[in-house]
Amino acid sequence: MKFQQLCVLGSTGSIGESTLDVVLRHPDTMAVYALSAYSRMEKLAEQALAVHAKVVVVPTEQARERFRRAWAGNGPGPEIRIGAQALVDTVLDSQVTTVMAAIVGAAGLPSALAAAQAGKRILLANKEALVAAGGLFMRTVRENGAELLPIDSEHNAIFQCMPQNARATIPTEPATGVRRLLLTGSGGPFRKTAIAQLADVTPDQACAHPNWSMGRKISVDSATMLNKGLEVIEAHWLFAMPVDRIQVVIHPQSMVHSMVEYEDGSILAQLGQPDMRTPIAYGLGFPERIDSGVGLLQLATLGRLDFEEPDFERFPCLRLSFDALKTGQAACVALNAANEIAVDCFLKQQIRYTEIAPVIESCLERITGCSDTNLDSLDDVLALDAHTRGIATELCLLKA
Ligand code: NAD
Ligand code: MG
Repeated sequence: MKFQQLCVLGSTGSIGESTLDVVLRHPDTMAVYALSAYSRMEKLAEQALAVHAKVVVVPTEQARERFRRAWAGNGPGPEIRIGAQALVDTVLDSQVTTVMAAIVGAAGLPSALAAAQAGKRILLANKEALVAAGGLFMRTVRENGAELLPIDSEHNAIFQCMPQNARATIPTEPATGVRRLLLTGSGGPFRKTAIAQLADVTPDQACAHPNWSMGRKISVDSATMLNKGLEVIEAHWLFAMPVDRIQVVIHPQSMVHSMVEYEDGSILAQLGQPDMRTPIAYGLGFPERIDSGVGLLQLATLGRLDFEEPDFERFPCLRLSFDALKTGQAACVALNAANEIAVDCFLKQQIRYTEIAPVIESCLERITGCSDTNLDSLDDVLALDAHTRGIATELCLLKA
């Protein structure tokens, strides 16, 4: 395997931490060049020391001071760069071969896109980048010979179950012989909660995912199943699959990470523990298989695997996502931006859990005039993203 120098964007997050865990198991084939974080500078300093990072990227001067104070190593420590442009510049550094895009939200789009422009190997966890700018992102990957490995567990599973030749190129049409993609989702913590009680659930209840341990934003998205909606859009772009050939299936045990259905009736599935180190190790090692530190899946102990239809009344955000994908790219940008604001307000206890979907729906109605043809560049996407955030913030304030 060629030696890889990594830039881990969002290293202090759940995916970032799992990434460093896997990287440290393979000192002969990979090393960390750069790390980035938006908060938790003490954690970042600890990580930079453990992996001997050459560069860290932090958001502000104050964060740089906090990093300096937290630095416990001998010597001056890594070079500290500041701000969003520094994320892009660091991705472009010639030493970097591989970029783990694990910033949460559309904030991760510019740096992920830069990695595509520079033709790097991209391990893409940041699904919001594909939701907001799928067409632009995939085109940029293709035109610059970048390598794209999906890290989201469902898409990583689908990638693993795809025909071999489909893994070698960035698709422009569905892989030959594939009939449908079956995306599994656990249904989150409220799969069985009485619908009438959902108005009173707390952020901590929403973040208590039954199977996965993740950042708070994606945990709320998993509760509303907007996460699965974002993943439908993500799958559409990654695998060039029309929306009517992507099916969502509830699978409460989260052991089957997703499936590919073929024309002959075969369904190939990828199974494993719900531990993100498996897809991360797959991306890092590709095309080889490397140790991830994940233990065995004891099927006999597990006993059974269940599957159910998703309920759109319980999960209105899932319906809104399908509708947005059918409507077009502007709607997808707005869906994502409105959701980021609504989830943030819910986490701050400014709006109720059940107000997340109505905020998104109102934003989608308010931007119906925006045409997809004006979304060819990063600036266009970011402008609509900012515009929608403004509307969503106003709507949340009215409800607060
Ligand atoms: P997290 O909240 O745990 O971590 C997010 C990271 O991004 C942190 O390092 C944070 O400092 C950084 N960050 C936050 N806001 C930023 C900003 N404005 N600019 C720059 N950096 C910023 O999130 P996570 O759970 O690790 O998820 C990261 C991404 O991976 C998300 O897009 C999520 O949807 C995706 N993902 C996560 C999981 C999972 O198991 N956690 C699974 C699949 C996909
Ligand atoms: Mg997922």
